[in-house]
Amino acid sequence: MGFPVDVITYNEIIKDLPEYLQSDKKMSAISVNPQIIVEGQNRSEIYEFIKKSTHRIPDGIGIVLVSKLLGGQIKERVAGIELMYRFLEYANTYKKSIFLYGAKPEVVADAAEKIQKDYPNLILSGRIDGYTDLSETEIIEKINYSKPDFLFVALGFPKQEEWLARNIPQLDVSVFQDVGGSFDVLSG
Ligand code: UDP
Repeated sequence: MGFPVDVITYNEIIKDLPEYLQSDKKMSAISVNPQIIVEGQNRSEIYEFIKKSTHRIPDGIGIVLVSKLLGGQIKERVAGIELMYRFLEYANTYKKSIFLYGAKPEVVADAAEKIQKDYPNLILSGRIDGYTDLSETEIIEKINYSKPDFLFVALGFPKQEEWLARNIPQLDVSVFQDVGGSFDVLSG
């Protein structure tokens, strides 16, 4: 249906991290799932955003099956939440910093607490809930003030993709991921 998706594994994405973390380059690890492909058909800004993203992950067994049916090379599903766990492990190992943006106030607070407990060596730079009264400019300022290595955005589709498309150029962050309902899962 015209959407680009990368033939990529968890390990390959993790292997790419130093290249981005040690330079001005920005990694955008974006989930390409059936919902995005269907609903993105009439939204050129979503399509352009996916096209420009550095890592378009095959998130959803539907994508893997369609690839197989069409003789494509995607063998393995890369789930957004699992990739987030791998990023958190990496941040924990190398003492990198993370920022959480999105979800209800109590959800993002619980997710932050859980992350800090499970990954004690990473630096939790900050969090902002997805219903904040802060303006977009204030959100950007707050994130840039703490210069996190990783920014996880959980506003649901298509808000999080639209937000990232607008704001990645202004953000002093190395790695971006759209994570949908992952903070809700993490917060239990
Ligand atoms: N969300 C948010 N602000 C909004 C709308 C949604 O922070 O204006 C959050 C919502 O609280 C949830 C997350 O976005 O934590 C994902 O929402 P949903 O499950 O609807 O998205 P999906 O995973 O289906 O993309």
